[in-house]
Amino acid sequence: LVSREVKEENTVVRVGNVEVGGPGLTVIAGPCAVESEEQLLTVARAVRRSGANVLRGGAYKPRTSPYSFQGLEEEGLRLLQEAAVQTGLATVTEVVDEESLEKACRYVDILQIGARNMQNFRLLRLVGQAGKPVLLKRGLSATVEEWLMAAEYIVSAGNEDVILCERGIRTFENSTRNTLDLSAVALAKTLTHLPVIVDPSHATGKRELVGAMSRAAVAAGADGLIVEVHPDPATALCDGPQSLDPGEFDVLMGSLRYLAEAV
Ligand code: PEP
Ligand code: MN
Repeated sequence: LVSREVKEENTVVRVGNVEVGGPGLTVIAGPCAVESEEQLLTVARAVRRSGANVLRGGAYKPRTSPYSFQGLEEEGLRLLQEAAVQTGLATVTEVVDEESLEKACRYVDILQIGARNMQNFRLLRLVGQAGKPVLLKRGLSATVEEWLMAAEYIVSAGNEDVILCERGIRTFENSTRNTLDLSAVALAKTLTHLPVIVDPSHATGKRELVGAMSRAAVAAGADGLIVEVHPDPATALCDGPQSLDPGEFDVLMGSLRYLAEAV
């Protein structure tokens, strides 16, 4: 069902007035994790001003260590909803199980399946039945075929509104957090009609690389970007080193404006 052979024209995922896979570039931005009302509203207003279309923020965080900040859970979802009301931005948050899925459906517009859950097939079926667009991240070590099959689970459960997201894969290279696989973006665009976006933040783990990889992603044919932005990255509870501050994000958006027209 996700194959271009089955459907030739691009799928456009509509969320409010945002059209992912449509003519313009979709930019999703916000903190790795929702930390407080002040943090979220500050960053939401800033990214909105710079031209972002969707606000991201994790409320249920899949952290490597059980001792790291795990997210505000339902309170985080509530804050996302408040930020949406105040800014008019659509929202996306990660769901990790049945309970977080059920709660997220009440507060946000797009459900994110994280890299670690890309092959959680039961969760894929459930988000396929949830009636909301899904942002499906590529697994840490997933092939393009496995990634598309994960999307097939969601679409075959009745939901065609799937946005694929390349977020870097595990390789021998350890000077960046992951290795951004831009060829997979160009390849996926030929194999599937679904929109494909890129996460330069998790792909690199380094804020100084986020701008270059964002521009490279657009040049490679990505339909959009998801970028981590924090009002004060030095104090971020999660992923500070890869987060842009609002000023850096504004500069990035300026550089994309010309590029998106050129490609
Ligand atoms: C995230 O987007 O916050 C995240 C945890 O990403 P990934 O699942 O790609 O690691
Ligand atoms: Mn993160």
